[in-house]
Amino acid sequence: MKLYNTLTREKDELPAPILQKSITMYSCGPTVYDETHIGHMRKFTMDDVLKRSLRFLGYEVKHVMNITDVGHLTGDDDSGEDKLEKGAKKQGKTVWDVAKEYEEKFWDTMKALKIDQDDIIVMHATQCIDDMIALNKKLEEKGFTYQTDEALYFDVTMFDGYGKLSGQKMEDKKQAVRSEVNIDPGKKHPADFALWFKKVGRFADHTMHWESPWGDGFPGWHIECSAMAMKGLQSETIDIHTGGIDHIPVHHENEIAQSEAATGKPFVRWWVHHAFLQVDGEKMSKSKGNFYTLKDLYDRKVDPLTLKYLFLQTHYRKPMNFTWEAAQAAAKAYEQLQSIYYDLKQQANGTKITHAQDLSGTAQFMLNTFKKDISDDLNTARLLGNVWYMLKEEKLKPEDQLFLLDHVNTIFGFNLSGKEHNESIPDEIQSLADQRLQARTEKDFQKSDDLRKQIENNGYTIEDTNDGYVIKKK
Ligand code: AMP
Ligand code: ZN
Repeated sequence: MKLYNTLTREKDELPAPILQKSITMYSCGPTVYDETHIGHMRKFTMDDVLKRSLRFLGYEVKHVMNITDVGHLTGDDDSGEDKLEKGAKKQGKTVWDVAKEYEEKFWDTMKALKIDQDDIIVMHATQCIDDMIALNKKLEEKGFTYQTDEALYFDVTMFDGYGKLSGQKMEDKKQAVRSEVNIDPGKKHPADFALWFKKVGRFADHTMHWESPWGDGFPGWHIECSAMAMKGLQSETIDIHTGGIDHIPVHHENEIAQSEAATGKPFVRWWVHHAFLQVDGEKMSKSKGNFYTLKDLYDRKVDPLTLKYLFLQTHYRKPMNFTWEAAQAAAKAYEQLQSIYYDLKQQANGTKITHAQDLSGTAQFMLNTFKKDISDDLNTARLLGNVWYMLKEEKLKPEDQLFLLDHVNTIFGFNLSGKEHNESIPDEIQSLADQRLQARTEKDFQKSDDLRKQIENNGYTIEDTNDGYVIKKK
């Protein structure tokens, strides 16, 4: 597989599974102080599809993702407040409650996208403080740090390769960093970044704090990811590290500097960065009213998996513009795919192919085409195009097409059998079931129970599954 590597600025070939069977992968996870929005959905969908694709190509993947529940400031460059503390103040809640609430919402959204939590080694920053302190100590021993009254800093001038990921020169960095960052008069270079913040000054009232060799305080956001990646993947060098493009110039540059300074080894082999999702051509924000979450999808009766289809139509490195019209068009295509899957099942009439070698020559060629698409820097858009081409290919038998669609289902984490389960369910029952799913998502269990009773009183049963529900006639 070839994967674009931000570090080399090229599509670099991964060793074939026969040479390196297992892949270690780390993804920067959410900072849990606010709602999970459709931009996050795009990013985490593409992480999941990357992992699924690697497995489809024969790799075993160990995947770690962090939950940032402390230390991420409103400015990536050590400026501003801690996002969690700020969120808690605004909402009149404790930081711990805010983190718990938004993490739950994050996983609800992932579940709706068929992203399996159990398939990810999830690390919480607040539970790895000792590992961060240990890494900071190592950096201190090796002479890469200095202390001020406010923090322990990483001295970027001590690390030769600083700037290699973003390609920014030290001088440009100096100019790019906002003057606000220089609030700490002890800071030597504007690009130096905090490894540990002391509970003083603007952080004197910080509610999350731990003892450390540099005093009571809390870790910097960048050191969290280095510590959790190495701990979770049990390796000082990891194969793939993913994150949004916003992380390239500061967060990931800093992760590289501190990790490589501490271990003396390359930190990451492939840096994978996802482009952003915009809404109606603008950055998402609550004040603009274009900040959409899972609830908005349900309110508009949009199945989150149709959004997944929409994301896959654009390459992960290309910025994407979301509109509700585009979502509707994707929903139509996705539903059509479900219908075709359903029809093919009827036509195949129980005949099932379980091994690729039993496919016809044309079907094997299509399977290889799918592999090529995905191996070419995760070209999901081309793969989707080839799926439609394959479905129109007259020479293919229904059981061949089913075999291929089952693979597509696995690579993308679709729910193509959804229509099959809920076929011939009257619209009013379907609508009650959809309302119940929404009530469950909003944790309104009373309403969800009432709706279940209504469904049962109408002669149907409803069972919850990983990707939604199944309704059956009693
Ligand atoms: P955050 O919780 O803001 O730290 O974001 C978690 C991950 O989602 C990061 O890797 C961000 O780069 C990514 N992300 C945030 N907003 C968007 C967006 N609008 N489109 C795509 N990815 C995003
Ligand atoms: Zn990170």
